Amino acid sequence: MKIAFLGAGQLAMMMADAGRRLGDSFSFLDPNSDSCAARSGELMVAAYTDLEGLKQLALSADIASYEFENVDVHAVEQLQQELPVYPGVEALKACQDRLVEKQLLQQLGIPLAGFAEVNSRTDLLAAIEEINYPAVLKTRRMGYDGKGQMILRGPEDLERAWHKLGDYPLVLEAFVAFENEGSIIAARDHSGNIVYYPMSWNIHLQGVLTVSCSPWFEEQVQQQAKNLITRILEHFDYVGVLTLELFNCNGRLLANEIAPRVHNSGHWTIEGSACSQFENHIRAISGRQLGSTASDGVSLMLNWLGDIPDHGKLLELPGIYLHDYGKQPRPGRKLGHTTICAGNWEGIQQKLAGFRRMKHPTVVAAISAFS
Ligand code: AMP
Repeated sequence: MKIAFLGAGQLAMMMADAGRRLGDSFSFLDPNSDSCAARSGELMVAAYTDLEGLKQLALSADIASYEFENVDVHAVEQLQQELPVYPGVEALKACQDRLVEKQLLQQLGIPLAGFAEVNSRTDLLAAIEEINYPAVLKTRRMGYDGKGQMILRGPEDLERAWHKLGDYPLVLEAFVAFENEGSIIAARDHSGNIVYYPMSWNIHLQGVLTVSCSPWFEEQVQQQAKNLITRILEHFDYVGVLTLELFNCNGRLLANEIAPRVHNSGHWTIEGSACSQFENHIRAISGRQLGSTASDGVSLMLNWLGDIPDHGKLLELPGIYLHDYGKQPRPGRKLGHTTICAGNWEGIQQKLAGFRRMKHPTVVAAISAFS
C-alpha cells in the first residue's frame, strides 16, 4: 500500500520504517527540506497549506495520515477530498484546541483538573476566583512540550503571565499536585477492535518528556486508563494510534491531554513490545489486523535533547538500542532516543549504571528516578 504523511519528522520516519517492513511505501509533505523521514520515503517540500503540494501528495498514495496534531485542519480536509485520511479530522480539531479538548473530556465523563476559558483580563481574574492558586495559564492552541504556558503561584505572577500570554485565547487550569505522570497508548482498527499498550511513567524536564518507563503502573491504574482512552477512541470512531496523557494522583487518574498520534512515551515499544506503536498505527489505517502489544520484560526510554552522548561500548551490550534521527543538533531539539530493555527493573538499573559517566541531564533524571 502507498501511504502519505503530513509531516516528515521522526514520528513519520518511525511509522514509515515499520510500514516498509510490511511492504508499504511512503511519501511525506513537509516544509523542511532536511526532514529526517526523507530517508524512509519520498519527501515533497511544501507548506502544509500549499494546494499543489497537497494534490501531489494525494496522487502519490492510497491513504493518508499525519504525524502531529498541529497540522492545518484545512490541509487535512483538502486531502480528504482526494483519499481517505486517518485519524479523521474531528479528532484533530478537538486536540488542537485545549478548551475544546477539555470540554470533550468533560462530556465523556473523563476526570480532569478544573478549568476556565480566558479571553480577557477580567476573565482571568474571574477564573482565578473560581480555580484559585496555584493554577496554570495555557494558550488554547499550538502549545506543546510545555510551551505557551505559565504557572501562577500567587497574585504576584498574574501581571507577568498576562503580559506574556494575554494576546492569545487562553485556558486557566487548576495546578495538579500529581504523584507522577503517565500515558496510555492504544490502537483502534476499522472494525472497532482496540489494543492497549501498558502505561508508561513519564518524567519531564522543563515540560519536555525526557524519560519513559514501562510497564510501570499497577493493574488497577492501568484498567482506569484503558477505560478512559476507550471512551475517546469510540467517541471519534477513531482509526489509528491515540495517546492519553494522564496525571496520577495516588491511584486516581486525571486526564492532561490527548494526542491523536503515536507518542514519544511509546518509543520503547519498538524493541519492548511484540508489535510497536508505529507498526500498529500503520496496521490500523491500512486495514490490517492489529498486532500484539505484549511485552515480556520492562523498558526505559531516554530522550536525547540537544545532543546525543557518545555511547562508547554500551551498545555492545544486549538490550540497549540507540535511535539517531539524523537531525542537525540545536539546543533542546529531539535528536534521538535510547531504549534499554531488561527482564525486570533491577536489570534496567544495572544497565543504566553504565550510562552514569555521561552526566547528561536525561541520564541524571533517569538515575535519580531509580535512586
Ligand atoms: P502540557 O503541554 O499541557 O502537556 O504540559 C507539559 C507539562 O507541564 C506536563 O507534562 C506537566 O508536567 C506540566 N503541567 C501541565 N499542566 C499542569 C497542571 N495543570 N498541573 C501540574 N502540572 C502541569
